[in-house]
Amino acid sequence: MSQVRDVIIIGGGPAGYTAALYTARANLNPLVIEGFNWGGQLMITSDVENYPGYADGVLGPAMMSDFRRQAERFGAEFVTDDVTSVDFSERPFRVHVGSDEYRAEAVIVATGASARQLGLSSEQTLQGRGVSYCATCDGAFFRDKVVVVAGGGDSAMEEATFLARFARRVVIVHRRDEFRASPIMVDRARANEKIEFVLNAVVEEVLGEAAGHVTGLRLRDTVTGDAREIEADGIFVAIGHDPTTALFLDWLDHDEQGYLVTEPRSTRTNITGVFAAGDVQDHTYRQAVTAAGSGTMAALDVQRYLEEQRHEREVTAASV
Ligand code: NAP
Repeated sequence: MSQVRDVIIIGGGPAGYTAALYTARANLNPLVIEGFNWGGQLMITSDVENYPGYADGVLGPAMMSDFRRQAERFGAEFVTDDVTSVDFSERPFRVHVGSDEYRAEAVIVATGASARQLGLSSEQTLQGRGVSYCATCDGAFFRDKVVVVAGGGDSAMEEATFLARFARRVVIVHRRDEFRASPIMVDRARANEKIEFVLNAVVEEVLGEAAGHVTGLRLRDTVTGDAREIEADGIFVAIGHDPTTALFLDWLDHDEQGYLVTEPRSTRTNITGVFAAGDVQDHTYRQAVTAAGSGTMAALDVQRYLEEQRHEREVTAASV
């Protein structure tokens, strides 16, 4: 039988590592099962300029190494592999990585979410070199440039409107001629003279692999089948996000999109002793700094929970 730990943190992004830092400093000896591809969404961004404390900006992967190192410095331990199943039916909770079993009195789920990708190899190659999934993060790099936003939902409209503050021209490319976005968001984008629409079109290739940065896009008309190329300095893919929650859906309350539901002003889930932090339970803010804040909340919630547990055990022991 494996030892029973105070806390296991599942996920190695800003929320997970911050929860690890705080629980390590509270002497809770956290084990972080950080995933084979640790680091989360920041591993596919380049410069991060909106994380407080990095006045000169920082590369996303470097920032995540810093987060990890800081947690390690206070004694957090790591398993660099993916969780394959969990059993939250009783305490201690069980977390499996293949045939290895880990047990803990408390679990923090911080597995994050991922931006949906178009699925093009040129998109992968040019990630961080003009291909972005977050206008709030990267918009300012496109001052006076031409950018495309792919998608027809509220995110696409919101990102396009935000990007129009910086860019010279914003082109929304959407695969249908009707929008999933709410009419008010579409109207706002339509009213912006910097924004134009290309409807019934999909991005077939991101151009610029030879140049090492995005130079344009090849679009395919979904009605006529015709292809054409347009010049662009960047593309923001805004076709939705998917929370990484498949392992937890049978155990934890979630909304219809699969995001975990936590109690208001808390990181508590429906299972006492299981907490959720970061993008896995937040589809509104989705920033590294809000995820880190939420990881802090989860660590403090765990600390309080474990103290209550200890107190209850002492009271029971004293009354026997
Ligand atoms: P969404 O509503 O799921 O919209 C995704 C859009 O991307 C759809 O237009 C979809 O096209 C398109 N799309 C999906 N896969 C594609 C692909 N492979 N290639 C090309 N296009 C593709 O996602 P979202 O816009 O991120 O919004 C998610 C949720 O957050 C929604 O509930 C939204 O209302 C909410 N939200 C609200 C606000 C706000 O109120 N301020 C802002 C942002 C998001 P089809 O329409 O053809 O399927």
